Amino acid sequence: MNSIIQNIASIRADFPILSEKVYGKSLVYFDNAATTQKPLCVVRKIDDGYLLHNANVHRGVHYLSQVATEAHESARSTVKDFIGAKSTSQIIFTRGTTESINLVAFSYGELLKEGSEIIVSEMEHHSNIVPWQLLCERKGLKLKVIPFADNGVLDLDTYKNLFTERTALVAVTHISNTLGTVNPVKQIIDIAHSHNVPVLIDGAQSVAHTKVNVTDLDADFFVFSGHKIYGPTGIGVLYGKEELLDKMVPYQAGGEMIERVTFEKTTFNVLPYKFEAGTPDFIGSTALATALEYVQNIGIENIAEYEQGLLKYATERLKEIDGLRIYGNAPERGAVISMNVGNIHHYDIGTLLDKLGLALRTGHHCAEPVMQHYGIEGTLRASFAFYNTKDEIDKLIDGINKVVKIFT
Ligand SMILES: *Cc1c(COP(=O)(O)O)cnc(C)c1O
Repeated sequence: MNSIIQNIASIRADFPILSEKVYGKSLVYFDNAATTQKPLCVVRKIDDGYLLHNANVHRGVHYLSQVATEAHESARSTVKDFIGAKSTSQIIFTRGTTESINLVAFSYGELLKEGSEIIVSEMEHHSNIVPWQLLCERKGLKLKVIPFADNGVLDLDTYKNLFTERTALVAVTHISNTLGTVNPVKQIIDIAHSHNVPVLIDGAQSVAHTKVNVTDLDADFFVFSGHKIYGPTGIGVLYGKEELLDKMVPYQAGGEMIERVTFEKTTFNVLPYKFEAGTPDFIGSTALATALEYVQNIGIENIAEYEQGLLKYATERLKEIDGLRIYGNAPERGAVISMNVGNIHHYDIGTLLDKLGLALRTGHHCAEPVMQHYGIEGTLRASFAFYNTKDEIDKLIDGINKVVKIFT
């Protein structure tokens, strides 16, 4: 039996917010694709950082500064090991997925000639569309799109035909935040590499839910956010291959990223510091490392298996509801379900479920092209984490049934 099932009570106790009441009802938190809850150890790490270890990193000779610097650099090492990178030079701390993608769009984008082409997919989060659109406007590039079929699977035949001599980068999501589709990123990368084109993988939805090894994948860039993997907000990661990062120009300028400054010429620091201008979020980085260690302790394979159980159970139960439509049924899926029920507006269902203590997301989920694909405005989305339970899914089913009764 999966150890999460055996230990679910103590796991849930690690997340105090899960015992909160909303409108007098027990909170059921099914909005994990938007952000995850934080275990006590992560919150305590932030407290300890400010209460006991606070000093600016990389600058002082004094004791506290050294402690803070060591914690920050050891966090980088934890991230490196967690995603299977080879070197800490490849791990750049950012504010999150969005900033990581913007960094690559700007700094790698500076290397590209007018007329170059970027390939994204139709199921991307806006954060993996708009930075490329801005780059295209700025440098006169062209954006190409891999379509997906109605079942939420990317059309790889079309993808193969999108490549030309001008293709400069492919940027695709590992797991769709809306459809749950797990994309065959290894295959997508291999195809791009056969054309000598690098690939950026948006790992915002994958890194907390499935084993990721950037070296095995041979990803050129891999990005994710701390807050979606039980860590703090405001910290994220850009992994990049050194040969690419070395060629790229700095993204922002200021302290930490310089080697030497004179008014005649400034030279830049080595990787990863070249891309970390200003005082880094050293409290966030250390708390992120604590979150990764927490996940590692439970075991990412355990988490994946347990969440697949929740996904399967929820899908079966939701299918019992008349008129309920689920968007996307790819063979491999993360624990994310987007749906609509009959003609009831997703916002109305979400609002009524909220009154029952059920926290779900409604709207376009920052993926408007996915909505356009199906000709809808939005969906109701349930997204699960390892601290969720089948009992909570039963409450969702009861809740939706109640809402349906009100509207019919
Ligand atoms: C959440 C998300 C993002 C954006 O992450 P931020 O933390 O808001 O920067 C990008 N892509 C996917 C797939 C996401 O789920």
